[in-house]
Amino acid sequence: MATAEVEVLKNVDLLGPPQKQIHLGADFDKSEDPTVSEVPFDPVALKDRYIAERDRRLKHGGGINQYRLVEEKGQFAHYLTDPWVEPGFKRDPVKEEVDVVVVGGGYGAQLVAVRLLEKGVRNVRLIEKAGDFGGTWYWNRYPGAQCDIESYIYMPLLEELGYMPTEKYARAKELLKHSEMIGKKYGLYERTLFQTEVGKLRWNEDSAMWSVETSRGDDIKARFVVPSAGPLHRPKLPGVKGIEDFKGHSFHSSRWDYGYTGGDVKADSINSGELRGLSDKRVAVIGTGATAVQIVPNAAKYAKELYVFQRTPSSIDVRANRPTDSEWAEKLQKGWQMERMDNFNIIVNGGMLPEDLVKDGWTDILHKLLGRNAVQDSDPAKAAAERQMADFEKMNEVRARCDEVVKNKETAESLKPWYNQLCKRPCFHDEYLQAFNQPNVHLVDTEGVGIDRITEKGIVANGKEFELDCIIYATGFELATDWTHRSNIEVYGRDGQTLTDCWKNGARTLHGWTTRGFPNCFWVSIVRAALTPNFIHVTGEQAKHLAYVISECMARNVRTCEPTNEAEQGWIDTILSLIKLRAEFLKECTPGYYNNEGTPSASAAQSAAYGGGSPAFLKILEDWRAKGDFEGLDVTHFEETS
Ligand code: NDP
Repeated sequence: MATAEVEVLKNVDLLGPPQKQIHLGADFDKSEDPTVSEVPFDPVALKDRYIAERDRRLKHGGGINQYRLVEEKGQFAHYLTDPWVEPGFKRDPVKEEVDVVVVGGGYGAQLVAVRLLEKGVRNVRLIEKAGDFGGTWYWNRYPGAQCDIESYIYMPLLEELGYMPTEKYARAKELLKHSEMIGKKYGLYERTLFQTEVGKLRWNEDSAMWSVETSRGDDIKARFVVPSAGPLHRPKLPGVKGIEDFKGHSFHSSRWDYGYTGGDVKADSINSGELRGLSDKRVAVIGTGATAVQIVPNAAKYAKELYVFQRTPSSIDVRANRPTDSEWAEKLQKGWQMERMDNFNIIVNGGMLPEDLVKDGWTDILHKLLGRNAVQDSDPAKAAAERQMADFEKMNEVRARCDEVVKNKETAESLKPWYNQLCKRPCFHDEYLQAFNQPNVHLVDTEGVGIDRITEKGIVANGKEFELDCIIYATGFELATDWTHRSNIEVYGRDGQTLTDCWKNGARTLHGWTTRGFPNCFWVSIVRAALTPNFIHVTGEQAKHLAYVISECMARNVRTCEPTNEAEQGWIDTILSLIKLRAEFLKECTPGYYNNEGTPSASAAQSAAYGGGSPAFLKILEDWRAKGDFEGLDVTHFEETS
C-alpha cells in the first residue's frame, strides 16, 4: 500500500471515530451549527436518548463480573466439553522435540503452520483441544451459523485451494469443510494432536527450549511456541440467581445440542436440518447479539413457543446473501483474493478507493461513517460532527427498518437500537426481524435490565415468570478476562515468571506478538493487533510475519528472541496514546465487549488493539520485515561449532 494512503488512514479506527465526538448536550443550539441545522431529526434529542439508554443499562451492572464464568470444575464444566467428538478418546503420550509448536487449530493456527511450511520450517506440531480443525466454526455449529464477512475475503487460501465458496456469506458447514481442505492440502492433519489441551508452557533458559504440558501427558519440547487461541471461544453465562436450579434442558450456543433439538450440522439442509425436537417445546434464547440474531429465525421455525430475552437490541441491517456467480468467479485473475481483502480493509477503515469490490453492508456503513469528508478534513471537531451526523442517519435507517418489517408496533419499537452504530458489532440479517411476525415468537424486552433470575421452571424477567422447557444461552464469550483464563494456558517465562503476573496491569508486547521475558513465544492475536471486521485478514498477515521471524531466527542461528524493554514500552505508549482518542467514543456507548462491558480500565486500555487502523498496522509489520534488522528485538545466538 502506498505510504500516502497509510498517512490518510493513520488516525482512523475501525471501531469508532478517534477524534473527540461532537457533544450535543443540553446547551447545544442547533440553529448555530450549519452541520446540524438542516437535518430532518433532532440530533440533540437523539444524543440525549443514547446517553439515557446507556445509563439505564449501566445501572444494572457492567463489567465482566455481571457474568458467570465457566470453570473447568463445577456445575457448569459441561459447557466446556466437546459435543462433536465420540467420548473416550485415548492415545499414548507423545515424546518429541520440534522446531515449532502452534497451539490451536482455527484458521489462525492453520495459517501460521502453512506459512511456516512455505518458508521451509517443516518440523511443526499443532496442538488443538477440539476434535478437528475449524476453531470458531468447530464450536459454533448452531443452526444458522454463518460468517458475517463476505466468504471470498474471509475464507483464507481460496486461490491456493482452487476453491470458490458457494455463497457470498458461507455457512458453518462450508467453513468447516474448508478448514478440513486446508488441513488436507498442507498435510496439517498428520502434524496435529487433536483432543489435546495445552495447560502449561515453560521456558527453559539452559536448553533455550519450551516445554509443552498437555492434558494427555505428552513430553514435547519446542524451540518456538505460537499460542493461537482465538478470542471468542470460552462461553460465559449470565450471572443471575438460580441458574443452577433450572430443571429443564439448557445449553450454550457454542455447544448446540442437536440431540435435543433435532437437526444436524452435517445434514444437507442449509440451516442445519430440521429442529423437530423443538416442536412441542417452550424455548428461550437469552441474548440478542450476533449469535442470537442467527439462531432466532431457525429456532422460530420449529419451536412451539420461542421467547427471546433482550437486554439491548442489536443493529440489524440488510444481508442480501446470494449464491456465487460462476461467470464472475471464472473471470477472476491470479491474486484476486489478496486484492479484494485489501480493498475491503481500506474502505472499512475510511480510505477512498475508485471501486468497492465487496460492496456490502460493512463497506456501506463504514464508508458512510468514516469515509465522508471526515478523514480529509483538517478540522477534527468538524470531522467528528459530520461523522456523528452520518451515524445518526445510518441508525435512523436501521430503526426505520424495524418499523418496515415488524408488524406489531410495540415490538418494532423494542427492537430499535439507541446507540452509535459502532458501539457493538453491527448485525446483518434478512430473517431475524421478520421472525417476530410469527405468532409463536415473543420478544421479552427487559429494557436494559436483563433477566431477573432463573428458577426450576424457567426465567423471571420484568417481574414475570416464563415457564420453559429449554434455555439457550446466547450470552457470548469471555473477552474481558485475562488471556490465561480465556485460553486456560499458563505461560512460564524466564525465571518462572507467569504471563498472568506479567500482564496483570495489561498486555505487554511489541507489535502485539512478542513479550519481554518470554523468548521465542510469539502470539497470534487479533485482540492485540488491529481490529478490523475481517479478523482473518489481519490474522493471516500475522501468520506471514511470524513465519518470517521464525524462519529468519533459524537461518540466523538465533537462540533467543524477545523485545527490548524500550521497544516494548514504546509500543505500549503508542497503544495508550491512540486508545485515548477512541476512549471518548466508547465512553458514550452502551456496554458490550468493545468497551470492556462498559467499564473502561487502565489494564483494558493497555490490552487494546492498535488504534491507528489495520491498514496502518499491517504497514508497520511489513516495513519492519522489509528492514530485516529485527529492530527492537533483543537477540542472542547459539555458539558456532567449528
Ligand atoms: P455477545 O457478547 O455479542 O452477546 C451476548 C448477548 O447476551 C447480548 O445481547 C447481551 O446483552 C446478552 N446478555 C448477557 N447477559 C444477559 C442477561 N443477564 N439478560 C439478558 N441478556 C443478556 O455474544 P454473541 O455470541 O452474540 O457474539 C459474540 C461475537 O461473536 C460477535 O460480536 C461476533 O464478533 C462473533 N460472531 C461472529 C459471527 C460471524 O458471522 N462472523 C456470528 C456470530 C457471532 P447486552 O447487549 O445488553 O450486553
